[in-house]
Formats: sequence, C-alpha cells, structure tokens
Amino acid sequence: MPHKDLVPKPHSRFYDVKCKECGNTQTIFSHAAMEVKCLICGAVLAKPTGGKAEIIAEIISEH
Ligand SMILES: [Zn+2]
Repeated sequence: MPHKDLVPKPHSRFYDVKCKECGNTQTIFSHAAMEVKCLICGAVLAKPTGGKAEIIAEIISEH
C-alpha cells in the first residue's frame, strides 16, 4: 500500500498564537527554549519545558 501522506516531519513546528491579554497575534516556535513573551504587552505566551514548550496563549493555527 502506498503511503504518500507519510512525509517525514520534524516534531518542531510553529504556532500562531493570540495573546490573552491584548489580543496580539504572533508566531512562536513549538520547542522554544526560552520564555516567549508578547511583543506588545509582555505577557508570557509560552514556557520552556525542556521539550515541547508549554503554550499558554490561545493557539490559532499551527504550521
Ligand atoms: Zn499581549
């Protein structure tokens, strides 16, 4: 059986997130190694965990 959908993908990706505080949207790396803050208001959007970052903001889409 062909498995054309099985394109190898890295585990890392990017998320478009929306800041819960000010509504700003920005793109963050799924495996951010440092705390990611909103560029507008400074609210923490993601925290590093050593692997996949904990996303605190609302995830709008991932790519
Ligand atoms: Zn914000």
